[in-house]
Amino acid sequence: MEAALEPTPDPPRVYVPRALAGGEVLEGERLLAAPLKSNPRPSVLDAPITKLRGAGPKLAAAAAELGISDLGDLLRHLPHAYRDRAEPIGLGDLKLGEEATVQVEVAGAKLRPTRRRRLTILEADVFDASGKVKAVWFNRAWLADRLQPGARLLIRGKLEKRGFNVAEHEFLEAPARAPAGLHTTGIVPVHPASERLRPQRIREWAWQAMPLARHAVEPLPGRLRRELRMADAADALVASHFPADEHAAEAARERLAFEELFLYQAALVTRRGRRAKGARGIALPEAGARVAAWLGSLPFALTGDQRRALEEVDRDLGLAQPMQRLLMGEVGSGKTVVALYTMLRALEAGHQAALMAPTETLAEQHFRTLETLLAEAGAPVTLLTSATLPARRRELLESLAAGQPELVVGTHALIEETVTFSSLAVAVVDEQHRFGVRQRAALDAKGPGGRLPHVLHLTATPIPRTLSLTAYGDLDTTALRELPEGRRPIRTRVVGEDRRAEAYEFIRERLREGRQAYVVCPLVSDSEAIEARAAEAEARRLSNTELRDFRVALLHGQMSSDEKARAMGAFSSGDADVLVATTVVEVGIDVSNATVMLVEGAERFGLSQLHQLRGRVGRGEHESFCILFGDPESAAAKARLDAIATERDGFALAEVDLSIRGEGEILGTRQHGLPRFRAASLPEDTGLLLEARRRVLELRDRFGSLEAPGVGPLMDEARRRFGDERVEQLAA
Ligand code: ADP
Ligand code: MG
Repeated sequence: MEAALEPTPDPPRVYVPRALAGGEVLEGERLLAAPLKSNPRPSVLDAPITKLRGAGPKLAAAAAELGISDLGDLLRHLPHAYRDRAEPIGLGDLKLGEEATVQVEVAGAKLRPTRRRRLTILEADVFDASGKVKAVWFNRAWLADRLQPGARLLIRGKLEKRGFNVAEHEFLEAPARAPAGLHTTGIVPVHPASERLRPQRIREWAWQAMPLARHAVEPLPGRLRRELRMADAADALVASHFPADEHAAEAARERLAFEELFLYQAALVTRRGRRAKGARGIALPEAGARVAAWLGSLPFALTGDQRRALEEVDRDLGLAQPMQRLLMGEVGSGKTVVALYTMLRALEAGHQAALMAPTETLAEQHFRTLETLLAEAGAPVTLLTSATLPARRRELLESLAAGQPELVVGTHALIEETVTFSSLAVAVVDEQHRFGVRQRAALDAKGPGGRLPHVLHLTATPIPRTLSLTAYGDLDTTALRELPEGRRPIRTRVVGEDRRAEAYEFIRERLREGRQAYVVCPLVSDSEAIEARAAEAEARRLSNTELRDFRVALLHGQMSSDEKARAMGAFSSGDADVLVATTVVEVGIDVSNATVMLVEGAERFGLSQLHQLRGRVGRGEHESFCILFGDPESAAAKARLDAIATERDGFALAEVDLSIRGEGEILGTRQHGLPRFRAASLPEDTGLLLEARRRVLELRDRFGSLEAPGVGPLMDEARRRFGDERVEQLAA
């Protein structure tokens, strides 16, 4: 009886172009309406798109660039817009100035000479049963040959005084790639296209491929679809490409977006499950005297967030299941203390711990910080990078395998095959998004006797909660939002050109007081070379004009590492007063005497990026300032600049950025390993995302595993679309 109580999903309404030309039955229409007689065969969709009419090797290559290789890809290449075209009307019903589509026959056509070289006018006398009109094309001279008497076509445009001004046309006797009316009547889908592959062609292919939609894998369990009143995958695909109306299009998109988010969450949950399943870590005893003494020796009290983080870490470390936790907190939020605590817990229990950073500079920085912080704990720290000399490295590897040293900091060099730990219980990974899935696995393999180390991942890029669910669905997360006591807020001002002189005067005053300043040049799209030239020019300009009494240094990404090191060295030693730089200052500079940051073209930066830039100042005892030169040409740009001026919390800024710009635009989204969704879009689909996650967990709990036989093809499809390899590839 259960089935009777469950509502049947509403079948989506699909638009089928009428058989316009003389009532012939369209093949597409017949196939679309046909009930499914045989079982779906998903392998049908693995066929290359060259199977389609009008898909030669050249266009197929262009399609591949859009991510369309086989028929399945084509089905999942969804329209991003729709044009609402009415059904054709009779010529007699045309009204002056109104857009309409009419189906006509040509009586004759001729090119009209014009005086202007770039203008051609093509005129055709056309008629239907209700009347006749002069149809006019501008700059379409090549059409003249095809407008032979008797040719039939659909034209869309406007009736004007001198005739019918044609915007689009479609010959009814077109090659049999698609039914007449596909491009000019009803709801016309517009697919993402390119210079070499026009939307019309994709539309024709999509139409031809529609009957095959019935072979699409249905990854959502039937029960779930009934509960949520969702159409099945095949119907949703058809309705998304060729909807009856806007509502049908949106309903289909939502269904496909849900499916996408559902599969992605399933992939994340399973990946996590696989690591947890049967994986044994090392359950550590509770923190003892050594760790307590070290905590007591810190010259500051922990923030509330730090204390909470330690509690969460304690809970994880006590379990035999290995920890997979992400610690998010912006620069200066005190992540290092939490990381160090976690590592000391391993040492105290007689094991080893490692910290892995993405670059040598960062590894060396961590090494120095840990040395200082550990002075009291009496634990020696060792550094291992690719710069470690061979003899030293050999010696180090030998002792690591023997259980000494206990605490090692390094780069990728730590997870090379030749490195063996005698008992690695805790690993900390800094800037986790810069390491791939394979590297995480290599780190896991360093645990003793098949056991996995507890892993704490660090990231300084705060991202909104909704995104962290998608990006880090396979990690537990902890956030440090609260900045340590005594940190003074950075005073941030957004100013226009009219206050430039005033801004430089302000900077000169700070410099005369002995402070230093950063000047960050605008972000130039995709060209480091242009960006570097702009920075050079700005440095030259400033040292000849507004800042001529001060020492100006230059830093950009096109300089050699030697030159960069020299510039940074000059600035940190105080030999330079001003550092003119591109965004390379974002990473790795820490000069507490620098108290002013001026950013040019601030409207071009993401909020999170501005916030990170701003984090370069405010690191010492002096009050710090951030001056943003911005030209907020749009309301969105103004809203973002207002937000950065008033909001200090990086997480809150990330939320604002997300809501204003959408997920695709946010700095670091790609870096965080989020895949590019085809139907889903965040944050608009946050509701769907949360529902998808809830349903995935529910399904797993009901069957014990998403791979259980009763679950259906869900995981195969999830792996196909979002498997580890694929997620990693997308993150690259
Ligand atoms: P992060 O690694 O998140 O960038 P750090 O752990 O390096 O931040 O901390 C930044 C600075 O703040 C360090 O000098 C550190 O010693 C100090 N610090 C950390 N926690 C606190 C605290 N609770 N109170 C005061 N200062 C702190
Ligand atoms: Mg740090």
